[in-house]
Amino acid sequence: MAYVINEDCIACGACQPECPVEAITEGDIYVIDGDLCIDCGACADVCPVDAPNPA
Ligand code: SF4
Ligand code: SF4
Repeated sequence: MAYVINEDCIACGACQPECPVEAITEGDIYVIDGDLCIDCGACADVCPVDAPNPA
């Protein structure tokens, strides 16, 4: 299990510093490394458009 950022991402960057395992990478839309994600939900809590969701 890992969170996935969907196409609603507006690349605001709010989630990246919240991730305790540095699984989030900047991009046109931000990307979560599923091998690192521990499903904590911190990224989803700060996202203004609910782009990160459990996959
Ligand atoms: S759910 Fe937690 S561990 Fe996974 S990408 Fe989001 S902040 Fe990082
Ligand atoms: S907080 Fe949401 S909109 Fe902002 S970069 Fe992260 S996933 Fe994208």
